[in-house]
Amino acid sequence: LFGYIFRALGDSRLARKLLAGNPVGRRLARRFVAGESLQDALTVSRALASSRMHIALAFLGEHLTDESEVRRSTEVYIQAAHEVATAGLPAYLSPKPTQLGLDIDEELCRSQLRRILEAAAAGGLFVCLDMEGSKYTETTIRLVEELRGEFPRLGTVLQAYLHRTRDDLDRLLSQEITIRIVKGAYNEPADIAFQSSDEVEDNYKQLVEVALDSGVPVAIATHNDSLLEHARRSAAARETPLDNLEFQMLYGIRRAEQERIVAQGHSMRVYLPFGPDWFPYFMRRLGERPANALFVLRNLFR
Ligand SMILES: Cc1cc2nc3c(=O)[nH]c(=O)nc-3n(C[C@H](O)[C@H](O)[C@H](O)COP(=O)(O)OP(=O)(O)OC[C@H]3O[C@@H](n4cnc5c(N)ncnc54)[C@H](O)[C@@H]3O)c2cc1C
Repeated sequence: LFGYIFRALGDSRLARKLLAGNPVGRRLARRFVAGESLQDALTVSRALASSRMHIALAFLGEHLTDESEVRRSTEVYIQAAHEVATAGLPAYLSPKPTQLGLDIDEELCRSQLRRILEAAAAGGLFVCLDMEGSKYTETTIRLVEELRGEFPRLGTVLQAYLHRTRDDLDRLLSQEITIRIVKGAYNEPADIAFQSSDEVEDNYKQLVEVALDSGVPVAIATHNDSLLEHARRSAAARETPLDNLEFQMLYGIRRAEQERIVAQGHSMRVYLPFGPDWFPYFMRRLGERPANALFVLRNLFR
């Protein structure tokens, strides 16, 4: 219910006007979002890099239905690739398929992704195509498979809550494609997705073991202690080289744990969102934890 309320607030124009237009609201959002501009994201990236963190840059926006907006998002990623390469930052790009036009036309999405990949390749950067709802899973995987031949530094995300993921993992690992494993963030029906957190976590652990056994580099994106511990133990048991395993968390969430992972010598990548459309993302993060929402409310009315 709590999560639902905050998702609804994220879509509400009134809530956006009150909070996003309010300087205190904007300042509080900075805990989870780098800021509105690419320059804001680069400033935060430099600070993260000085704490030995890697970065996944994510320009906010999804389900775009206006082609000119799609093209603008592509331009932001292209600009980001140039700036990251010039500054020598340890960052890669993490666009979403529906931000690149997948709701409009698959060919549009392919052409935009290709333009981003060309800019990324020129700067030696990796691109991870985010995974959205199950309606897009097959197309997203296919786009990655198609473009991988030309752009080897391309990977994607697989979601542990989907029944199909075990097969998708085998399919992508056989092509040596680097995967980010996540629990999954969308509401999916019981005929295609595990519903209980125990089932999702059991599947997550199996996927991690399969990925580690393959020897293909893998990213473990979670804030969950049991999953983190399992990944650490599984990698140690297999003597997985440090380069083949990367931990990933969202900017602003479990910061002490992020630092601990770095101190242990593991690679830690922080998913760093930025862009003018930050309000729904901020509301989703608040909805995940009552303590975060209380913190914001207390500060707003102080
Ligand atoms: C780097 C990264 C990339 C992702 N990319 C995708 C993607 O492409 N597609 C997709 O479907 N999903 C993606 N996700 C989201 C993912 O699917 C999960 O919804 C999300 O990570 C929550 O699950 P969890 O494994 O972190 O564990 P949970 O069990 O949900 O969280 C574990 C603990 O983390 C802490 N925590 C969680 N949220 C917060 C918060 N807001 N504030 C403070 N503490 C908190 C709490 O202590 C909680 O108990 C991504 C997640 C990360 C970290």
